[in-house]
Amino acid sequence: MSYQIPYLQLDTSDVNLAEVLTLCEGTFIKGRVVNAFETAFSSTLGIQHCITTGSGTDALFIALKCMGVGPGDEVITPALSWISSAETISLCHATPVFADVTSDSYTLDSDCLEALITPKTKAVIAVHLYGHAAELASIKSICSQHGLFLIEDCAQAHLSTYHHQPVGSIGDVGTFSFYPTKNLGALGDAGCVVTNHDELAEKMRRFANHGALGKDDHTIEGMNSRMDSIQAAVLLQKLPHLHGRNAKRIANASRYAHQLQNHSDIILPQTARDTTHAFHVFAIRTHQRDALQQYLATNGIQTLIHYPVALPFLPAYSRLGYRPADFPVAASLQKELLSLPIHPGITFEQIDYISSCIRKFFNR
Ligand SMILES: *Cc1c(COP(=O)(O)O)cnc(C)c1O
Repeated sequence: MSYQIPYLQLDTSDVNLAEVLTLCEGTFIKGRVVNAFETAFSSTLGIQHCITTGSGTDALFIALKCMGVGPGDEVITPALSWISSAETISLCHATPVFADVTSDSYTLDSDCLEALITPKTKAVIAVHLYGHAAELASIKSICSQHGLFLIEDCAQAHLSTYHHQPVGSIGDVGTFSFYPTKNLGALGDAGCVVTNHDELAEKMRRFANHGALGKDDHTIEGMNSRMDSIQAAVLLQKLPHLHGRNAKRIANASRYAHQLQNHSDIILPQTARDTTHAFHVFAIRTHQRDALQQYLATNGIQTLIHYPVALPFLPAYSRLGYRPADFPVAASLQKELLSLPIHPGITFEQIDYISSCIRKFFNR
């Protein structure tokens, strides 16, 4: 039996390009189709406001800016994430302060949080890494006690839930990415912010559109970060299929868990009680990560690493002078995590083949 299994296969079968053009009605920036997507996405999440942006990175930047994060401020963000959840803090001329992650959900460790808060701390970014919700109850209560804004970075967690509520609706602002490989992906860059705060919503809507709501109504300076109408039309077509595609990811995860259960060399991803995992990433943990990745590659199986270098240890943050001992969990995870193919298009037969290769590797 021989296979070639790529990590990802982008599925565009839900997209009808001719209809996309019709939906745009000859308007390619803003227009009714963008409003329609904003309404559809906000009602899917049960949240008041959705403001579309050029990308998930822009969404984080816009949220931070409109919360007033600026020079001299500090924002706490997890040590293990995509760089957007730290670089956008620096873009505001504020300082990212990294917190270690937990060894069960790999999300921001609320036990580390309190010790990192200083008079300069303005906000906390909780990242729902891989699609697993961060410990929002304790994070939110610490934020409220200290008067800090809470941003939920939901770029990997479309429709993930925490205590039966969709992520993005629990903090002050939720940010989403619709990068093509995300659980809900456009055919290019796109993102959004969601919030229940009316005032913050208006400010973010202005900021993303040169500081104006209507024509020439520039009450503040802003930027140009808008979702293209074409991407809004694509996402509007794909949104009704998101729940089903997430369900397939969850079924795939259960299949792996069944095939790899009770294996002493592997730690499988856990799903905390009262949460729904969107399984954007299915990362197993093993001390023999690099050798296993190599072995799977020679058997035609492509895997990825999210992320090989935790944020504080990237050259981009060498100025902050962090050492591995400052983030013991993230420092181990960067050497042990391996992401297996989990996308909705993969078959159980392929998952069984990948699992049997993994078992064979450890039995050599
Ligand atoms: C993808 C991602 C982003 C950024 O999204 P873009 O749309 O690519 O700018 C931010 N945070 C996390 C955790 C992500 O995975």
